[in-house]
Amino acid sequence: MERKSFQLGDIVQMKKPHPCGTNAWKVIRMGMDIRMKCTGCGHSVLLPRSRFEKRMKKVLEPSREEGKQDQS
Ligand SMILES: [Zn+2]
Repeated sequence: MERKSFQLGDIVQMKKPHPCGTNAWKVIRMGMDIRMKCTGCGHSVLLPRSRFEKRMKKVLEPSREEGKQDQS
């Protein structure tokens, strides 16, 4: 089974687009609830994590703050 992973700052696509026509949301808060913001109109929505995971389709653009693995 596919496990969805996402993190703060990711741009995600949901199964259902926002009524404004945009289907790209930025994760702006993580916790028991996930707060995401529509990148089209700026509307923000708070969803319980389980609900968010069910509705999320995929990560469109991963957050760039992925870690400090770039030490050469
Ligand atoms: Zn919108």
